[in-house]
Formats: sequence, C-alpha cells, structure tokens
Amino acid sequence: MNDQASRPMTPEEEIAEMRSHPRPTLRAVSEGMEKHLYTAQPVLDHGFVRVIDYMGDDAAITQAARVSYGKGTKSVQNDEGLIRYLMRHWHSTPFEMCEIKLHVKLPVFVARQWIRHRTANVNEYSARYSILDREFYIPPAEHLAAQSVVNNQGRGDVLEGEEAARVLEILKRDSNQAYDSYEAMISQDGQAGLARELARMNLPTNIYTQWYWKVDLHNLFHFLRLRADPHAQYEIRVYADAICEMVRDWVPFAYGAFEDYRMGAQQLSGKGVECLKRRLAGEVVTQENSGMSKGEWREFEAVWGDA
Ligand SMILES: Cc1cc2nc3c(=O)[nH]c(=O)nc-3n(C[C@H](O)[C@H](O)[C@H](O)COP(=O)(O)OP(=O)(O)OC[C@H]3O[C@@H](n4cnc5c(N)ncnc54)[C@H](O)[C@@H]3O)c2cc1C
Repeated sequence: MNDQASRPMTPEEEIAEMRSHPRPTLRAVSEGMEKHLYTAQPVLDHGFVRVIDYMGDDAAITQAARVSYGKGTKSVQNDEGLIRYLMRHWHSTPFEMCEIKLHVKLPVFVARQWIRHRTANVNEYSARYSILDREFYIPPAEHLAAQSVVNNQGRGDVLEGEEAARVLEILKRDSNQAYDSYEAMISQDGQAGLARELARMNLPTNIYTQWYWKVDLHNLFHFLRLRADPHAQYEIRVYADAICEMVRDWVPFAYGAFEDYRMGAQQLSGKGVECLKRRLAGEVVTQENSGMSKGEWREFEAVWGDA
C-alpha cells in the first residue's frame, strides 16, 4: 500500500486528484469556470470557497429565453444583448437554468447569515458525528473595529494599541479555553465521554464549519447583491467577493449584466424620480420641499449629491 493510499488525502492532493482526470462531455462547458473547478480559494484565516460542480453557461440562459420568446428574440441579435435585456426586465427564470455547487468553509456566525438565503440546497458538516477542528476565526488587526456610532448594524474606526491587543487576547483565550473544555468533555480516556452533539454547545460562533451549497444563478445573484454589497458584514462579504470572481469567469455576459443592472445600479423611489426631474428643470429642491423624510433625503443626497 503506498503512502497516499494508507492515509486520507490532504486537501491539495484531493484537488490534484480531482483535476487530473478530465473527461470528454457533450454538456455545456464554461472554459472560465473549468479553471476554478475543485480549487479552493482561501477566505479569512482558515476558510475557503471552491467550486465542486456547475451546470450551464451564458448560452444556456439565452437558449432557455429563446424557448419562451421564440421569434420575438430575433430583434436581439446576440447572446449578450439578450442577457442584458433579461436582466434589465427582471425576466429571471432563464438565469435559473444555470446552477453551481460550492464547498465552503466558514465561521459559524457567518454561516448563520448565509443560511438565511433559503433558495439553496445545503449539506453541512455534522458536529454530531464528527469532532470539530480547533480552528477559530480571529480577525486581523485591521478588521478589529469599534461599534459604529452612526449605524447600529455597522463598524466604526479600527481599534488600536492596547485595546486591540486586549480584544485579540480575549478572543484567542476564550476560543482555546472553550476548545480545551470541548476536548475534555468528549474524551473517552477513562470516562464515558459526553456525546459530540452536546459537547459542541459550549463552542463559540467563531469556530469553523463546512458545507456544500448548491444554488441557481438567479438566486446566487440575489445572494451576491446583498452580501457583496459594501454594507454587508466584512466576514461574509469576502466570501461573496470570492464567488463574484468565479461567476465572472463562469458566465461573463450574465455577470456583466448583473454588475451593471444590479450591483452598479441605484434604486429610485417615485419621490426620488420627481426630485431629480425638478432638479434637472433647474428647481432648487431641499428635504423640506422634497416630500422625503430626513433619512430618505440623506440617502438620496449620498447618491445624487446636494446640488
Ligand atoms: C444588510 C442586511 C442586514 C440584515 N439584518 C437582518 C436582521 O437584523 N435580522 C434578520 O432576521 N435578518 C436580517 N437580514 C437577513 C434578511 O432579512 C434576509 O433573510 C436575507 O437577506 C435573505 O434574503 P431573502 O429572504 O430575500 O433570500 P432567500 O431566502 O434566498 O429568498 C429569495 C426570495 O424568495 C422568496 N422566498 C423564499 N422563501 C420564502 C418564503 N418562505 N416565503 C415567502 N417568500 C419566500 C422571497 O421573495 C425572497 O426574497 C439581513 C440581511 C442583510 C443583507
């Protein structure tokens, strides 16, 4: 028995093994996505995202759209134009023809935000069955921020000096202490050992978990729109950013349309449209005569300026 056969494969060996047997196929293949397949993209201190499988490409989206539009699509000559049309008009079902299956390793507190996206299929590592690794997310110094004073759901300035050192010390100490207790409770060394499904309840939410996450492109775009947004928490945003890079290579036309009509776009309320029209006509519009609340006006001016 060779060395590799006698022990479990390391993640690198597993990736090399999976990438070493290309097979011919009649299915849609996205050259851009092939380079990502199986390769883990590191995220945070111990996490990663890797593509395990995918279905469809840009052509699968237009192929499905042409079924519904038939001759009507003749007016849109190329695939990119049609995809942009679909995205612009919220015709979303053709995007559901593409799917992606990801293997993600992430801290439990990030997983709690992620799992709120219900339109995906999930299979998570079982901490009832297996023993969790001693791996905790400890933020790098530049992401150790204070509570924001203007946004209850956000961060303010980065902690510095002694305060940063103290916080890091607490995070590391508590993580290790909790894991030591976990190990002590499940230990069968001269004792029955507490069930893993119970012992895990004492672990903090910065411990890492893993899951397979399968989602169609329409719902993935919804996830990315919310989680790659600058207002999303940094720790989930970095995963969304990594996935964006993969999707860009997988379905470049669809991703381009998504970037333009969703990520780069701004939503305007009816009152906002009116204010812009009045401004363009030369009128001086203020919050008082805009019909908007102070909060709405602040957000309006943040995008359209105060002129
Ligand atoms: C910046 C930010 C802050 C947030 N803060 C909080 C918070 O403080 N507390 C909190 O609880 N959550 C919070 N969330 C989570 C948020 O409320 C949503 O649960 C999450 O973004 C998933 O969105 P979704 O339901 O649209 O996605 P999905 O679950 O993927 O659903 C996609 C769409 O499918 C439809 N859908 C899916 N399932 C159902 C269903 N069962 N019934 C009806 N329609 C359905 C809906 O139209 C939905 O928009 C926050 C999210 C963000 C991005």
